[in-house]
Amino acid sequence: MIPVRGYKGAKVAVLGLGRSGLSAARSLRAGGAEALVWDDNAEARARAEAEGFAAHDLTREGAFAGVAALIVSPGIPHLYPAPNRVVAAAWAAGVPVDNDIGLFFRSLALDAWENYDVLPKVIAVTGSNGKSTTSALIHHVLSDAGRDSQLAGNIGRGVLDIAPPGDGGVVVLELSSYQTELARALTPDVAVFTNLSPDHLDRHGGMGGYFAAKRRLFAEGGPDRAVVGVDEDEGKFLANQLSEGAGDDRVIRISAAGKLSGSGWSVYARKGFLAEFRKGRQVGAIDLRAIAGLPGAHNHQNACAAYAVARTLGVSPKQIERAFHGFEGLPHRSQRVAERDGVAYVNDSKATNADSAAKALAAFPRIRWICGGLEKDGGLGALTPYLGNVVKAYVIGREARGFALNLGDTPHEISETMARAVRAAVAEAQPGETVLLAPAAASFDQYDNFEQRGEDFIAEVTRALRA
Ligand code: ADP
Repeated sequence: MIPVRGYKGAKVAVLGLGRSGLSAARSLRAGGAEALVWDDNAEARARAEAEGFAAHDLTREGAFAGVAALIVSPGIPHLYPAPNRVVAAAWAAGVPVDNDIGLFFRSLALDAWENYDVLPKVIAVTGSNGKSTTSALIHHVLSDAGRDSQLAGNIGRGVLDIAPPGDGGVVVLELSSYQTELARALTPDVAVFTNLSPDHLDRHGGMGGYFAAKRRLFAEGGPDRAVVGVDEDEGKFLANQLSEGAGDDRVIRISAAGKLSGSGWSVYARKGFLAEFRKGRQVGAIDLRAIAGLPGAHNHQNACAAYAVARTLGVSPKQIERAFHGFEGLPHRSQRVAERDGVAYVNDSKATNADSAAKALAAFPRIRWICGGLEKDGGLGALTPYLGNVVKAYVIGREARGFALNLGDTPHEISETMARAVRAAVAEAQPGETVLLAPAAASFDQYDNFEQRGEDFIAEVTRALRA
């Protein structure tokens, strides 16, 4: 655990008592602060009280008297579509609002640096898609190269739950836009921006707000190195703004869309090959086609980002390539769950928006596509260019009929349930085809979360293949 510095003897309010809220409360207590905890949900309050925390009703008048800061969980709206009333009350009382990520950076920065021979480094990864895969891949490569690495944030453990990094230790953080928007301290040594596509727009007041939230990771005077995906205009803008000139290697540009030119530092994937260029010379290459855990151009983008980060930390191209071969991928992201009679079964339940599902459709040639669920912002237009890879779609979800209207003349049937969709796809699939769950939608109409949806897919595939 990382004790929170800077609030010794102070009262700090914690709103939201899920994983990150509870861990913030514990770390505050370890640092000598008094955590006043609140959650609208009585069960969540009871869990915190069982650990000895005082529930303090933050919704009542005057609740912020004597409070030094308010720590808010990522699931609680702090601005759009409307600020939570406790957050608004903190504003009115002049109490600074922060989150666990802010506390983490603040606590590391105030730690005793003279105790280290080699200072620890923090790598922060953000972007619309590929954050988890990229973070996990960076952690995997560093661990494989014998570095002391810890993975935290949205993936793995809460940031404040990790052990204080030791000499030369690396912390890899996956950060969502909610987290980067609210944190009052955000000082990674290396920051990564994978890509940008519309998501969570209700929480950011539109695309501009969403990009602005992610950009905070790169604020002036920010990271020593920035790894920036330049396949969208926002990435090009960011890379341009962060570099002094064409040859400035503070910025490493990455692309999965083709060759990058220029005299700076770049890593790109083209036709399945990764290439690293520095000062106009090629200094590294990897054949990504041979790496089973990273299928498709989207994963090649993640590979470029992870490669670039590892290079900034002095890992050689050869070591990185070896580590890539041992990467098994994450559950629910391009996860190959079965193969029979020449048909592959792939679980990409994490493809909750059109853009990530489009990448999955691009990664396989002949697809029996299980899709549908709760539609997200941004529409499904991103899918259109890849519908040619779909042999047939099997639409699930309560709104299956509405979702199917987006499919044009792509052959499809309304399955509604996972069981029906899988049964039909298994029965109809031909050798050389892939049965792919890549919903392009959230899961909440039928499941608690995307993990449960993916597990259901796996269970139904297992059952259907046994029959
Ligand atoms: P995040 O943590 O940003 O949600 P994940 O690594 O969990 O990212 O992947 C989310 C979804 O997006 C998965 O369906 C995955 O297959 C897809 N995906 C992964 N990497 C990328 C990428 N670089 N670009 C677009 N989609 C991606």
